[in-house]
Amino acid sequence: MQNRRGVMRGTLALAGGLALPGSLRAQALLGPAPPLVPMRLSPDQLIDLKCCIRPLRAAGPNLGTETVRDRLVIHNYGHGGSGWSLSWGSAEVAVGKALSVLPDRIAVVGCGIIGLTSAIVAQRAGLAVTIYARDPIQQTRSFRASGSFTPGSRIALAGPAGPQFPDQWEHMARYSWKMFRTMLGLPGEPVAFGDSYSLSDNPIERRTWPADPAIAARYETTGLPQQNSEFARLDSRIRDIVPQSVPLQPGENPFGTPYATRSSHMYFNFPAYSHLLMTEFLARGGRYEMRNLHSPADVGDLPERVVIHATGYAARDLWQDHTVIPVRGQTGWLVPQPGVNYSIRSNNMSAMAKADGIVIMNNNPDLGEMLGVGDSMELPNRAPVEEAMASLSRFFWPADQRGAA
Ligand SMILES: Cc1cc2nc3c(=O)[nH]c(=O)nc-3n(C[C@H](O)[C@H](O)[C@H](O)COP(=O)(O)OP(=O)(O)OC[C@H]3O[C@@H](n4cnc5c(N)ncnc54)[C@H](O)[C@@H]3O)c2cc1C
Repeated sequence: MQNRRGVMRGTLALAGGLALPGSLRAQALLGPAPPLVPMRLSPDQLIDLKCCIRPLRAAGPNLGTETVRDRLVIHNYGHGGSGWSLSWGSAEVAVGKALSVLPDRIAVVGCGIIGLTSAIVAQRAGLAVTIYARDPIQQTRSFRASGSFTPGSRIALAGPAGPQFPDQWEHMARYSWKMFRTMLGLPGEPVAFGDSYSLSDNPIERRTWPADPAIAARYETTGLPQQNSEFARLDSRIRDIVPQSVPLQPGENPFGTPYATRSSHMYFNFPAYSHLLMTEFLARGGRYEMRNLHSPADVGDLPERVVIHATGYAARDLWQDHTVIPVRGQTGWLVPQPGVNYSIRSNNMSAMAKADGIVIMNNNPDLGEMLGVGDSMELPNRAPVEEAMASLSRFFWPADQRGAA
């Protein structure tokens, strides 16, 4: 393994018996940490590009109700960059509203992560469920996400969401976290934890986004957020349950960069997780009917008298909800690499190892949450993915070996 450069450095340093900081002393008693298997970040490994739209609503997800003909429609859409993460908690709220009218069966419109979890939560509460959807989960926007626990990502704008929203968000995030905990350690690892390293030549600090007084326009005047300071920042409300990043000392940093942090992050393996959910849905007698609905009137025509509406970004057309703002994002996927079970991030470029591949993202550090806002173009662009791979390669391979790694 002569190609391994920085990756071996930490291990060697430990074996050499450096004076170690507190967190590592316990590790040293057990012997050095196992070396990381280096990632192959070369273009020949790139097997897929996926582009997707996050359904952002300034006020947060729509969980309101309305009546269409005599159907009770409970909305459950508009989860921005947090749909996977908040799905169970959001489903619990929606199903709670359905149960208030004591139905024995309900319809769910949509089979993305929000529709599917809504259906299962309803089944677990004893209801018969039929899902009506244009696409099964493997063909939805949900399946084109990256798949980490990111419950506070582009979930709302602080002002329009109002003072009640943070409590509701916290309830959904905590409830979802508990549900994910029940799926750890299952075959196929539908939900898993991995180490995540942030690497930098400069001290790593949490970036804050103070309001820029030079930008007078706001969501309220334009219908689109204009700067990062408008987004709700809620993650600190659940820092007691979510692992936080810790700085690594030189002897602990396997990448040898001047600065590094490590955290444990929860992520979702989409194929295994979707399979698990669909299996439970069908085993509980759920019916799936492929159907394209064209208007709220079509929802009113469904045989079930209670309907959970979970069409994500498509609610903008189907329900004419133009408060749903597109936020474009894209991922590149590399061949799964056996033994690579961690993630790295540097300058907002990241590579995250999952069972079905290594996910590459290239997010402009200066745009933050504003990246992709208002952009509904769903065609992927290969260049930024290749740029991220080339940039992150330097942590593993000498310059002359990067392309061939
Ligand atoms: C690049 C990227 C990365 C992301 N990463 C994460 C992450 O790490 N963690 C996280 O929590 N979230 C992440 N997200 C956000 C997440 O993907 C979304 O919040 C989530 O997919 C929304 O799911 P949904 O079920 O509401 O919508 P969708 O997945 O879009 O599902 C909508 C469903 O409704 C159906 N439908 C639509 N229109 C109709 C119609 N007219 N008639 C019948 N059926 C219809 C569709 O067929 C589909 O079944 C990411 C998003 C992007 C773009």
